[in-house]
Amino acid sequence: MNKKVSFPKIVDPKMLSTASHPQHLDGLAAEDLFADNTGITYRDYLSLPGYIDFDSKDVNLESKLSREITLNLPFISSPMDTVTEAEMAISLSLMGGIGIIHYNNSQEEQLHIVEKVKRYKNGFILDPVVLSPEHKISDIDKIKRRYGFSGIPITQDGTRNTPLVGIVTNRDIDLETDRSITIRKLMSVDLVTAKEESTVNSLDLKEANQILKQSKKRKLPIINEKGLLVALVCRSDLQKNQDFPLAIKDKYKRLRVGAAISTKPEAYDRIPDLVAAGVDCLVIDSAQGNSRYEIELIYWLKKNFPEVQVIAGNVVTTQQCENLIHAGCDALRIGMGPGSICITQDIVAVGRAQATAVYHTARFANRHDVPIIADGGIGSTGDIANALAIGASTVMMGSMFAGTQEAPGEYFYENSIRLKHYRGMASLEAYEAGGTKRYFIEKQDVKVPQGVSGAVVDKGSMFQYLPYLSQGLRLSFQDMGVRNIPSLHKKMYNNEIRFEKRSFNAQQQGSAHNLHSYTPPSIVDPNRS
Ligand code: GDP
Ligand code: 5GP
Repeated sequence: MNKKVSFPKIVDPKMLSTASHPQHLDGLAAEDLFADNTGITYRDYLSLPGYIDFDSKDVNLESKLSREITLNLPFISSPMDTVTEAEMAISLSLMGGIGIIHYNNSQEEQLHIVEKVKRYKNGFILDPVVLSPEHKISDIDKIKRRYGFSGIPITQDGTRNTPLVGIVTNRDIDLETDRSITIRKLMSVDLVTAKEESTVNSLDLKEANQILKQSKKRKLPIINEKGLLVALVCRSDLQKNQDFPLAIKDKYKRLRVGAAISTKPEAYDRIPDLVAAGVDCLVIDSAQGNSRYEIELIYWLKKNFPEVQVIAGNVVTTQQCENLIHAGCDALRIGMGPGSICITQDIVAVGRAQATAVYHTARFANRHDVPIIADGGIGSTGDIANALAIGASTVMMGSMFAGTQEAPGEYFYENSIRLKHYRGMASLEAYEAGGTKRYFIEKQDVKVPQGVSGAVVDKGSMFQYLPYLSQGLRLSFQDMGVRNIPSLHKKMYNNEIRFEKRSFNAQQQGSAHNLHSYTPPSIVDPNRS
């Protein structure tokens, strides 16, 4: 039954109903959807279907994170201590998105996490970690714990100012029980190296990779005419490059990563080290971003570290955006109160319904070429599609990612359901761990939490979950009849994407209903322990 079916060509595109006949269009343009000043959110509307003449695999989900950084998937993990540390950021960046490292930790801890992500994958490693023959195996163990690798070039005095004399790889040390043995006794001196002039100077990574492949070794040290180590190339990076074609990389082929900072004086201490470690974007993490502190910080960052992208927020009105764009930010983070763990709107009654906030801010920022991140309140792929359809370039998620293996924290069981803790950064628990920086209350005697602490269900690994989310999104784009995010935005602003509000009953009908019981879809094997 492998008979190939071919369809007769009966469709003349000129005959199709399009926006050139606006009187025939059903539904509302985005501007009409948001015209009546009632705050609405993602569940309150749907996009109407468009015309399909392409496969869902032809949908391209590339989108701008900021003026200068483009992602291959429009997904960002939230800077929260139950969501984004090294593992989460590495998995997202390998798959095409980006993680933002939280700052509910010490300056040093945050820096280590950023370094771990930046060290995970490389082209030429221009600052390889080296040791001397007098160091011990236990020194390599320390490096392994901090950065995750154990292949160490050995130089005469343990700095890159003296010649390379050997190399130690995991194979040399893994079975050794006495960790106090000196490296001199184990290091391999049979080295395959490449000369600097044929590689680093001409930046010919391909050539170095070729030498590495042929050598069958795991590492290729690159030395200059004095025998000094100037760079290192790792075989595992060739593999990672093959396995993750959508990875988001900087100019040194390192994974991209962001870090959150506060608007408080302590941020000014954190920033120089984060930049030196190669952080790609700094997210100014303030619940109400339209403040003197934030605007001054943006000016300072753009003046002192112009190479780093500055993501400002959180904001929800065009007036707030105007101030931050004027100060020079490269992207805006939108959301005040929609987060799943958030009680800000109950406590202070200041904020905005999330879809309304995203639409109005995106419309304004789009004129200034500043991308919008829709932050918070995403509970399904449909919500992601709805956020992008009204102008967001990317979405930031907390609860969606918090139950994955790569989120910090251990799983636990409640009524036989496998869960992970997820807490707001303004919850009492997070305050106790140091989380008051975002909410202007560090020195207040009475702490008023604006977040809660809870649990989310197991979502499996990000490496299965992200393909599931992206494919859900591709299907949505296919149904809307658009192949990519820029054309979605163009059609939305041209009033060609049509929307319709949903009554409460329509929302109920849009989900599973009238069943005695059912099992919600899950990509996690229920028998997994
Ligand atoms: P190892 O055999 O334990 O060193 O680990 P692999 O070779 O499998 O992986 C090392 C990974 O760490 C590669 O992706 C490197 O790009 C990365 N890396 C980053 N900085 C360094 C460094 O200074 N030395 C080494 N050996 N690897 C580094
Ligand atoms: P979620 O994806 O879980 O719906 O929302 C995550 C977002 O909620 C975060 O990116 C952040 O903007 C916001 N958020 C995190 N912690 C808190 C909190 O304790 N209170 C409030 N108001 N918002 C929070």
